[in-house]
Amino acid sequence: MRIVLKVGTAVLTDGDKIAKERMLNLVTFINDLRKDNEVILVSSGAVAVGYTKVKMDKSELKNKQALAAIGQPMLMRMYEELFEIYGVVSSQVLVTAKNLNHERDVKRINNTINTLLEQGVIPIINENDATSTFELEVGDNDQLSAYVTMGVEADMLVLLSDIDGYYNCDPKKNDGAKLLKNVVTVSTDELMYNVEKGSEFSTGGIVTKLKAAKYLLEFSKPTFLGSGFDLTDIRSFLLDNKHIGGTLFK
Ligand code: GLU
Repeated sequence: MRIVLKVGTAVLTDGDKIAKERMLNLVTFINDLRKDNEVILVSSGAVAVGYTKVKMDKSELKNKQALAAIGQPMLMRMYEELFEIYGVVSSQVLVTAKNLNHERDVKRINNTINTLLEQGVIPIINENDATSTFELEVGDNDQLSAYVTMGVEADMLVLLSDIDGYYNCDPKKNDGAKLLKNVVTVSTDELMYNVEKGSEFSTGGIVTKLKAAKYLLEFSKPTFLGSGFDLTDIRSFLLDNKHIGGTLFK
């Protein structure tokens, strides 16, 4: 199977630090998964990691772009160090919304990804935040990873987040919220939810995840939404074929 795995900022950072242990768990999981699958990682976190080094007002676009320029290489250095433990080479592929909108660019990205995978290298994708202009940015990696899933002809998308699945109401506000294990359609109403974001650096939230899943459902591609803090559910789902926790949109 070819799997696009997207991990969010909230998972990769912890307050003012890189969440190194969580990153190691993620890399260990990817190393297990890659034995029988092709794995493409979409990683957020550039802006938040940049902020661990230089404090700038991140509400200003130019500062956010500068923070991404600072954080992206730091993030990649961390991945490189962790993948090296398993003797795996990692690589960086930065894309723009403009790329993803052009068939010729998508083909080229796909060729690069195929070549990397043939060599056993893990491609790590992020949006090229430092150069993307506001009108042209995808903005959130949930939707970006859905486009990437189509572009690289992957079989499914996995979204690893600070939430462990999709609930019938906001689990942060309702104790009785129920996890929806299997979802077959996402309605337009569900995209209007106004729920808080996972962390101050996160761009998405449940809505961008639903949008990503809805987009892929139109092409009959499944999306799994699960916890990036505790990888038990996604491990069972992908490695043992057991759906215990997390939401499968299919
Ligand atoms: N590309 C942004 C970053 O690396 C993340 C976008 C998102 O949070 O989805 O900081």
